[in-house]
Amino acid sequence: MTDCLFCKIIAGRVPSKKVYEDDKTFAFEDINPQAPTHVLIIPRKHVVDIKEAKEEDAELIGYCHLVAAKIARQRGIENGYRTVYNVGPGAGQSVFHLHLHLLGGRKLAWPPG
Ligand code: AMP
Ligand code: ZN
Repeated sequence: MTDCLFCKIIAGRVPSKKVYEDDKTFAFEDINPQAPTHVLIIPRKHVVDIKEAKEEDAELIGYCHLVAAKIARQRGIENGYRTVYNVGPGAGQSVFHLHLHLLGGRKLAWPPG
């Protein structure tokens, strides 16, 4: 997708602070962090969001959580962190390339706002 911001980040055409990458995913610092750790984990494949995802994307959707766990371990925030897929504008989704938020490093309230 040539006009997708996150596809451009993966391609290196928009700068980002890379945290992790592998053959399936890319992770980078959120530009507007909501916690001391706020990393976005995205699939290299352009998937719009969970509700548009296909069954064939199921492994990828779950795999992003394993990448988040790895990053959380590296950062020593395993005591309490949150992984979030915002789905749709009503839930705050503003970029339509699937991305898992990893938030941690501070007390996280429940329920979220
Ligand atoms: P969402 O609101 O769930 O769609 O999340 C999109 C996230 O992308 C927000 O937390 C933004 O701060 C973040 N974001 C937008 N543009 C960039 C960028 N160029 N680099 C890093 N993060 C970004
Ligand atoms: Zn994309």
